[in-house]
Amino acid sequence: MKFNELQLTDEVLRAVEDMGFVETTEIQARSIPLIKSGIDIIGKSNTGTGKTAAFGIPAIESISREKNGVEVLILCPTRELAMQACDEIKKFSRYMSWVKPCAVYGGANMDRQIIELKRGANLVVGTPGRVMDHMRRRTLKLHNLKMIILDEADEMLNMGFREDIECILQDIPEERQTILFSATMPPAILAITNQYQNNPELIKIDQKYRTVDTIEQYYFEVPSGMKTEAMQYLLLAYEPKASMIFCNTKKMVDELTDALTGKGFKACGLHGDMKQAQRSFVMDKFKSGKINILIATDVAARGIDVSGVDVVFNYDLPQDNEYYIHRIGRTGRAGKSGSAYTLISNRKQIYELRALSKYIKADIVEKELPEKSEIINNKMQKLVTKITAASEQPLREEAEIILSILNKEGYSPEEIAGILINLRLNKEFRNIPEFELPKVKKYSPKHSGGKLTKEKASKIEISAGKLHRIAPNFILGALVEATGMPGRSFGKIEIFEKYSTVEVPEADLEFVVDAMDNTKINGKKVSVKLCERKPSEKSLRHGSGSRRNDHSRRKNQGGYHRKRK
Ligand code: ADP
Ligand code: MG
Repeated sequence: MKFNELQLTDEVLRAVEDMGFVETTEIQARSIPLIKSGIDIIGKSNTGTGKTAAFGIPAIESISREKNGVEVLILCPTRELAMQACDEIKKFSRYMSWVKPCAVYGGANMDRQIIELKRGANLVVGTPGRVMDHMRRRTLKLHNLKMIILDEADEMLNMGFREDIECILQDIPEERQTILFSATMPPAILAITNQYQNNPELIKIDQKYRTVDTIEQYYFEVPSGMKTEAMQYLLLAYEPKASMIFCNTKKMVDELTDALTGKGFKACGLHGDMKQAQRSFVMDKFKSGKINILIATDVAARGIDVSGVDVVFNYDLPQDNEYYIHRIGRTGRAGKSGSAYTLISNRKQIYELRALSKYIKADIVEKELPEKSEIINNKMQKLVTKITAASEQPLREEAEIILSILNKEGYSPEEIAGILINLRLNKEFRNIPEFELPKVKKYSPKHSGGKLTKEKASKIEISAGKLHRIAPNFILGALVEATGMPGRSFGKIEIFEKYSTVEVPEADLEFVVDAMDNTKINGKKVSVKLCERKPSEKSLRHGSGSRRNDHSRRKNQGGYHRKRK
C-alpha cells in the first residue's frame, strides 16, 4: 500500500514524501487507519518494521490546532529511543506548525525540558521515569490527554518501569485512546492490556515479514581467548562502512573498545554506565561517520536506528533469542540488505546457535575466518583497481621528483612504484594481528556415540589439580563445554596434587585431547594429554560426594576409602 492511499492530510503526505517513503510497511498499513478510527490497538511487530510512523502519523493528525495542553504521550524504554522517536515525529509534523513535540528523558537537564514543556508542547515523548518526575512536579499536566502510546512495552517492563507505567495509566483521563506496541506478548503485557485498554484490536505481523529475512547470517568458530583478534580479522577482511559489535557486558564493551581503538580502528563504546551527554556524543559521532564501529550492550543499543549499518557482529552470543533478532535488526533496515556475523567459542554455543536458527526460522551458516594472506591479497587487489582506475597524469612536480630519484639513486621505475605501494600498505598491514588461528576440530559422534563403555575407556591427563583449586565439577563442566559431548560420556574424574585424570571413550580420545588442550579451567590454562601413569596414586573421585583430596591428607583417608569399598 502507498502512503497516498491512506487518506492522510496533505501536510503529512508532503512530509512523508520529503523523507522518501512511498510504500507503507505492513504494520503502518494496518495500524494507521485503525488508530485514526479511534480504537485501542495492540501492535505485535518486530524491530525495524516502521512502528514510529505507524503510531506517530495518526498521533500528529489527532492533535488539535487549539492550545489544549498535552494531547499525546508516547512512552519509550530508553532515552535514545525517546529522542529518536521524537526526531522522527518532528519530521512527520514539519508542515504542521501547531504540533509541538517535546522529548523528556532522564540524565538530561530538567530545567530545559520544563521550559520546552511550558512553551506549549502538545506531544510528549519520554521515558516512564522522567515522565513521572515531571508529573509529580506538575510541570507535565495530562488532564487533556487524548492518546497514550506505549512503544516497546515488553522492553519497558524488562527495564523495571512497570510501576511507573501503571501509575501514569491510572493518572490520565479515562476517556482516551491507548495504543501498545510490543515485540513479545508476555503475561505482564497482557495484564496491562486487560486492565488499561478498552476492547483493543490486535494487529499481529506475520513472522515471515521479519526483517531478518534480508540479512545474511554467518557464524565463526573461534577459540576462546582469541575473539578480539578474530574481530580484527573480520573488520579488516570485510571493511564494513558502518558496523555494530554487540557484547554481553559493559566490561567487555570497554575492553573491546580499548583493544580496537588501540589498533587504529575508529570505534566507540556505548553502554548504560555512560552519562547521557557521553552517549549522545558517541551516537552523533557514529551517525555522522566520524567513527564507523559502535560497540554496545543490548540495552544501550535497543532500537537504535542508524541508516547504513551494513554489518552487525555478535562478539558474544546473546543470552536471549529475541536479543539476537534485535541486534541483527540494526542492519538490513527498511528492506536494505545487511550481514550478521556471530563469534562462538565453544561446543555448547553451537547447540545454542542451532536452537536460535530454528527459533528465527533462518539459516546461520558457518564460515571460516579469512586468512591473513587473503586479507593482504584483497587489499593489494583493491589498490591495483584504484591505481588503474585513476586517470590523472603525474603533475610536473611529481614527474620531476620521479626523474630525480631515477637519475640520482639509480632506482628503476618498478622499484619506486614498489616502495610507494609498500609505504601505503604497511600501515594497514600493521593492523593484522600476528597469530595463527588453530583450526577447531569438530565433534562427530560417529565414534563412540558419546557413550562410555567399560572396555573402551581411555584416560586423559589434565595439567591442573588440587594445587589449582580444581574440583571434579569444574573439569566436567570444561569437558562438556569444550567438546559438546554429554556429561555422561565421561567416567571417573580423579584430582591429584598437580594434575587430574578423566576417563573418556577411547574412540573420542583424540578429539577430546584436541578440544581440551589450551582451554581454561577455573581460570587456569591447561594442557591435556593421554595419561600414561599407573593407577596407583589415590585421589578424589568424581561423584564421590567428598570434597577432600585424600592424596594430600593421607591421615584422613581411611574412612573415605572404606565408603568407596
Ligand atoms: P521500529 O520502531 O519498528 O523498529 P522504525 O520506526 O525505527 O522501526 O523504522 C525503521 C527505519 O525504517 C527508520 O529509519 C524509518 O525511517 C524507516 N522507515 C519506516 N517506514 C518506512 C517506509 N514506509 N518506507 C521507508 N522507510 C521507512
Ligand atoms: Mg521503534
